[in-house]
Amino acid sequence: MADKIQRTLAMIKPDGIDKWPQIEKMILDEGFTIVDRRRLRLTRQEAEEFYAEHQEKSFFPDLVTYMTSGEVMAFILAREDAVSQWRRLLGPTKVSTARRQDPASIRAVFGDPAFDTRNVAHGSDSLVSAAREVKFFFPDLTLEPVLTGEGAKEY
Ligand code: ADP
Ligand code: MG
Repeated sequence: MADKIQRTLAMIKPDGIDKWPQIEKMILDEGFTIVDRRRLRLTRQEAEEFYAEHQEKSFFPDLVTYMTSGEVMAFILAREDAVSQWRRLLGPTKVSTARRQDPASIRAVFGDPAFDTRNVAHGSDSLVSAAREVKFFFPDLTLEPVLTGEGAKEY
C-alpha cells in the first residue's frame, strides 16, 4: 500500500532565507508539492507562540531573538508521508550532527555548525503539529482533507 498523502509545515529560518531558491529546488526535487508559501517577519509574540513548547528551555530567549532577526519563509508541503520525509530532508537538529550523520541534508549543506540555534529550517514533528503550524502561518486558508490511498481522510 502506498504511504498516505500528508501536508506539513516547513519554514526557512532567518539564517537560511538567502538560500531559499536552492532549498526550494531541493524540496521540489524530493517530490513535494508546494501548496502555498509566504515570506514574512515574525514578531516576538508570534515567535514565542510558535515555539511555546520550548518556553522553559534555557535556549528559548536566544531562539526567539534569532527567529525575529530577519524574514522567514513558510511553506505548506504535500507528498506521501510528508511529515517524516520533510524531517528526513532537513536532517538532525544540530548542524554539527547533521554534517556527521547526513551530509546531504538541508541543515548539513546550508547550516553553520558553530551555532546550535541557527539550523536553517524547521519542520513539523507530527500531523498534530503540522495542523497547528499550518493554521499559524496560513490562518485564512481553507484546505480540503487529503485523500489517502484507501479513501480515508487525513490531515
Ligand atoms: P527541531 O527544530 O529539530 O524540531 P527542537 O524542536 O528540539 O528541534 O528545537 C527547536 C529549535 O530550537 C531548533 O530547531 C533550534 O533552532 C533550537 N534549539 C534546539 N535545541 C537547542 C539547543 N540545545 N541550543 C540552542 N538552540 C536549540
Ligand atoms: Mg521541534
